[in-house]
Amino acid sequence: MPEGDTIFRTAQALQRALAGRVVTRFDSVYPSIIRVAEDHPVAGRTVEAVRARGKHLLITFSGDLTLHTHMRMNGSWHIYRPGERWQRSSRDMRVLVGTDAFVAVGFNVPVVELLSGRDLARHEQLRALGPDLLDPEFDASEVVGRLRDHRADSIGDALLNQRVMAGIGNVLKSEILFVARIDPFRPIQSLSDDGLTHIVGVARELMHANVLGRMRTLSPATGRRTTRSLDPNAKLWVYGRDRRPCRRCGALIQSRKTGMDARLTYWCPRCQI
Ligand SMILES: [Zn+2]
Repeated sequence: MPEGDTIFRTAQALQRALAGRVVTRFDSVYPSIIRVAEDHPVAGRTVEAVRARGKHLLITFSGDLTLHTHMRMNGSWHIYRPGERWQRSSRDMRVLVGTDAFVAVGFNVPVVELLSGRDLARHEQLRALGPDLLDPEFDASEVVGRLRDHRADSIGDALLNQRVMAGIGNVLKSEILFVARIDPFRPIQSLSDDGLTHIVGVARELMHANVLGRMRTLSPATGRRTTRSLDPNAKLWVYGRDRRPCRRCGALIQSRKTGMDARLTYWCPRCQI
């Protein structure tokens, strides 16, 4: 699943490509979107801003209209020059925003909505999001308070809870808890406020480091996550390294399926307590 830092990076790339430009073409395979666009045409509007909120992506057009997308497991945005050959099949196109200079194509994006400002303000999922780790005004103490509301949950599950804080996906969850040296299955009630503040600080740091690290590997044609082509400083500590030696202590990395969707959690049994 794309994580918050990937969405943030995608939003930045789309912002650079689209902001300030007039939409010349808008398309979607979703009938509900086409219906809204018939009443409120997107073509002819100016792209005002593209921003990420947690794992949600918002493209705001002039005249009070916003395109909200969520990539879930397989969605991605690519940016092409007009006429450039797409790297994915056109069958996978779900939504498209074109300008004279660039065409942004959302492939396999399962959640696509056109919303007014009023719709946005009332949007249940967006309103429920916790503070965004990449927001410059991020408030760690608020997040610690929200963590306390889930005292019986494991810290690993709580990091993934977008209502507690927005942006962390399954890869970063394991990495954050390795760096913070905390056992992912520890209940929140066993952690002090200082401990929780430390974990939240590590989470922010890794999110920012990932945004910067991947900025260098950004290809203008793709919005895809490039976890494996990171520079060596950003290589993964535990995620995907089941039964391989810990990079820090040499103990074998463990993994376990957790949660309703049985996502894998990775950790070092010696480093993380
Ligand atoms: Zn270790």
